[in-house]
Amino acid sequence: MRIGVDLGGTKIEAIAIDAAGAELGRRRVPSPAHDYAAMVAAIGGLVEDLERDLGGARASVGVGIPGVTSPATGLVKNANTTCLIGRPFDRDLAARLGRPVRLANDANCFVMSEAADGAAAGARTVFGVILGTGVGGGLVIDGKIVVGANAIAGEWGHNPLPWPSDAERPGRRCYCGQHGCIETFLSGPGLAADFAESTGRSLGAPEIVDAAARGDAAAGAALERYEDRLARALATVINVVDPDVIVLGGGLSNLAQLYEAVPRRWAAYVFSDAVMTRLVQADHGDSSGVRGAAWLWPAER
Ligand SMILES: [Zn+2]
Repeated sequence: MRIGVDLGGTKIEAIAIDAAGAELGRRRVPSPAHDYAAMVAAIGGLVEDLERDLGGARASVGVGIPGVTSPATGLVKNANTTCLIGRPFDRDLAARLGRPVRLANDANCFVMSEAADGAAAGARTVFGVILGTGVGGGLVIDGKIVVGANAIAGEWGHNPLPWPSDAERPGRRCYCGQHGCIETFLSGPGLAADFAESTGRSLGAPEIVDAAARGDAAAGAALERYEDRLARALATVINVVDPDVIVLGGGLSNLAQLYEAVPRRWAAYVFSDAVMTRLVQADHGDSSGVRGAAWLWPAER
């Protein structure tokens, strides 16, 4: 049995799955967001409660966090749950639970989940993309997360938008310190900012999608720009990694037209006669984080 834990901003959720990925049980508790010791205790209790629910069997434990363990220090970095930063979170959880615990970035857990038994099941090389309030990503090859020397593999959102037009240069300022990052164009707020700049109207990403569906020409044009930018951004991923499958998650992945329009557009940018890479929508939705954390232990213990 595998248990996966996902650390969100407001809740901690845990799931138990069997060897085939079937859900055996699930529990959630509010996140003690600012108290590190309480966070370790809450996860320990959550795992033990779930094991008790399921007859006391001992599970492997993986945890998805909004950050990474720094290969340089062994401590958590880049976490927006800031009480984790600078902590040996994997070792503290292992001590609390009396077993090794694997940690991974939550975007990497998303890709792991889809590669294990989701939309990219059976594919060797899977690049996963989250198109939400930010733009994240991760890479799974042969069933394993590629973490990378700096633990940033897949962080394509802070590369510049490729093949920019003059109108796209230098681009909006990004919180990372650069201008024109992919995230500033392809996140939900990025789409909203692009629409506002071209129309003077202030709509959120879901409203822009709705307006386009009702025949609003300016909203439709904004989505066409979005499709072409996503095609360009993914073409550079294909040129470097050449994945079998690219899986989209996050709010904007619900835009059904992307799965036809983006592959049609990326043909012009990928350095290949034909592009065999498939673009698919994630299967597991909001459960990808917990499921991918559970799959961090690939074999039954
Ligand atoms: Zn950036």
